Amino acid sequence: MTDGPTYGFDTLQIHAGARPDPATGARQTPIHQSTAFVFRDSDHAAALFNLQEVGFIYSRLTNPTIAVLQERIATLENGVGAVCCSSGHAAQIMALFPLMQPGCNVVASNRLYGGTITQFSQTIKRFGWSAKFVDIDDTEALAEAIDENTRAVFCESIANPGGHIADLPAIAAVADDAGIPLIVDNTTATPYLCNPISLGATLVVHSTTKYLTGNGTVTGGCVVDSGKFDWSANDKFPSMSAPEPAYHGLKFHETFGPLAFTFHSIAIGLRDLGMTMNPQAAHYTLMGIETLSLRMQRHVENATDLAEWLEGHDAVDYVTYAGLKSSPYYARMAKICPKGASALFTISLKGGYDACVKLVDSLEIFSHVANLGDARSLIIHPASTTHRQLTVEQQTAAGAGPSIVRLSIGIEDIQDLKGDLDRALNAAGK
Ligand SMILES: *Cc1c(COP(=O)(O)O)cnc(C)c1O
Repeated sequence: MTDGPTYGFDTLQIHAGARPDPATGARQTPIHQSTAFVFRDSDHAAALFNLQEVGFIYSRLTNPTIAVLQERIATLENGVGAVCCSSGHAAQIMALFPLMQPGCNVVASNRLYGGTITQFSQTIKRFGWSAKFVDIDDTEALAEAIDENTRAVFCESIANPGGHIADLPAIAAVADDAGIPLIVDNTTATPYLCNPISLGATLVVHSTTKYLTGNGTVTGGCVVDSGKFDWSANDKFPSMSAPEPAYHGLKFHETFGPLAFTFHSIAIGLRDLGMTMNPQAAHYTLMGIETLSLRMQRHVENATDLAEWLEGHDAVDYVTYAGLKSSPYYARMAKICPKGASALFTISLKGGYDACVKLVDSLEIFSHVANLGDARSLIIHPASTTHRQLTVEQQTAAGAGPSIVRLSIGIEDIQDLKGDLDRALNAAGK
């Protein structure tokens, strides 16, 4: 499909980046299950290796099926380019890698997916990087946390496990003032519900494992670049602005302009870190994205209905869903994600830890798994699983206290989901 800025989301989620296969006429994007691609001749090979021509060399760097997915996600997110990788966590490293050097830090929201808190507070230290966590609603604290070694601000548009929507324009203004990029994890919201780039984000990261694929089949990640950041405005981002020794002194920003980040991520990031997506995974994710808007509409509809009903249930103490009028973040929906607050939230049970465990074990339709954003409804009790190693104080601070369960609402019949939850809640209460 040619650049069609006038096409709507539902059209783009099916067509962006794809066209009938020129060799065979195949209408669906073929799975190019090939490690390497034949060069036309030695001059062609040299041009590809010099980054003078764009093409396919070896599937650690580029692959035609993955290229379609990259263009599709970039289009849906209003970015200029995207790079796919092996998981959402890989995408986070791929987003930080061109920005950071030993001694540099990222200022991150303290309300993040638990795995990201661990990656940022522990693992990135091995690279000589560090993270400072702040309450992202407190823009003064955010501005104060940024120092001369800070290279990015990181937050989630709708925080996993739900209940918090970030005021992206306010956060972007602080990052802009400091001359550093804002990276937004848009996994929970998806580009259908929220467009972080139009709200000031420089980079958007995704775990495509979740709603984008939407069927619980493959792990994957993606980094989308807005193309708007001036990497040469100061000397903070030498990977972009200074000569690159591995490419005969090529300067990425000077040479590739708004595509500098994307080219760097492929030519250096994927080449040397090797966190590559495979073509089969790209295929499943492309299949999923074709129905993204339809699924998200149903996810939001079911989640809103269930959250309202659960709020009035005898066994339930409270519900943290931003789509509820009782949520302190309800008012932000209109500005950040007007079509809804996704379908992930927590509930607190009056019966505490024991009731949570009984609830999880009594459900039939809801599956007890450590995943979210699937077409099927999922549940987890963090205190007895993902957050088991933490003290009760740490669990509570993370919004995962002993009486909390996390629900990821699927797209099944609402009366079946309600019936399943009602039966299990009543069983758990006894
Ligand atoms: C799952 C998740 C991740 C990590 O993604 P993986 O694909 O599991 O590596 C990051 N951020 C959020 C918000 C997530 O839900």
